[in-house]
Amino acid sequence: MISQKVADIPPFYVMEVLERAQQLEAEGKSIIHLEIGEPDFPTAPHICEAAHNALDGCNTTYTHSQGIPELREAITEDYNTRFNLDIDPSQVVVTSGTSPALMLSFMALVDEGMKVAMSNPHYACYPNFVKAIGGKAVLVPTKEEEGYCLNSDNLSTNIDANTAAILMNSPSNPAGCLMPAKEMQAIADMAGDIPIISDEIYQGLVYGDAKDHSILEYTDNAIVLNGFSKKYCMTGWRLGYMIMPPNMVRLIQKMQQNFFICANNFVQHAGVAALTGPQDHVKSMVETYDKRRVYMLEKLKSIGFGVKYTPNSAFYILADASKFTGNALEFSRQILEETGVAITPGIDFGSGGEGHVRFSYANSLGNIEKGMERLDAFLNG
Ligand code: PMP
Repeated sequence: MISQKVADIPPFYVMEVLERAQQLEAEGKSIIHLEIGEPDFPTAPHICEAAHNALDGCNTTYTHSQGIPELREAITEDYNTRFNLDIDPSQVVVTSGTSPALMLSFMALVDEGMKVAMSNPHYACYPNFVKAIGGKAVLVPTKEEEGYCLNSDNLSTNIDANTAAILMNSPSNPAGCLMPAKEMQAIADMAGDIPIISDEIYQGLVYGDAKDHSILEYTDNAIVLNGFSKKYCMTGWRLGYMIMPPNMVRLIQKMQQNFFICANNFVQHAGVAALTGPQDHVKSMVETYDKRRVYMLEKLKSIGFGVKYTPNSAFYILADASKFTGNALEFSRQILEETGVAITPGIDFGSGGEGHVRFSYANSLGNIEKGMERLDAFLNG
């Protein structure tokens, strides 16, 4: 016997694309990876050095379940400075990535049968977390022209007495779009007593004159999730954190103690170096992403993909493939097999992504150019 709740969880298609692409690579095929949601830059040397030093100093034991004080202080200092807030380190729980933080947030707020409202499309894993704990994901329609952002009008007709939480993600995956500040304010006002879970993992990766915001600028009734995977290129280190209202700390802390004990000790020391050390590597990475974004957006449109919004953050473009196909899942399989370009079918991100494919520009400009040439030749040649 197996749990039906879990048996029904769909695969994370992007991982399946990646695994197939790696299999083709092992067979000697040239693959261009435009599917992955992972920075193609290495972790900065001073962050690695901090981890080495922490290991040399035998920081290899359990830590406080909420995380080492230096890291919680660095996290609050970072948020307080960037968003003019007044968070205390006691409101922070350090986790082994943003993914466990998502799990803890839903477990803290969502009882069996209760609902979590989120945008459609959305980060693939969200509804599956909700489902795994017996909750129900309510997918709120969005508009491409609004960058697929959650909008307070659509949200208001999708929440009721059984809504346990509203989930927000700005900058977003899969669209790579920032929610306008006034919309964040409107959602915070509308939510009232319903807590907001705000996944802010792509903060810092914003382009042009776009400026990112935290939900904590608009309400205290929120759990913020963030991590080191994207901005600090630390996907494999597994480090994230949650910021929560003081009255939620004990609840989350007890779960952290029971389920995970604490985040990796020496990795937390690397996190301190990431937040308090030089930030020039982030700045130059953002400049590089921006060049790729501008190139890829223009090229995708010239090939015939539809993009009616301006992707201004993270490293994704969600493009309409309806000119080429009625089945984007099959289309992305065919593109991979025929051209060696790996892309993610939009259906990974909910029914709102149907007919679309997600391109990631977390790859070198040279590889992106090669990928675009192959697509152009295959689709228009
Ligand atoms: N949230 C979003 C929107 C993401 O795209 C990802 C990773 N792809 C995560 C959370 C999880 O990140 P991690 O567990 O590496 O911190």
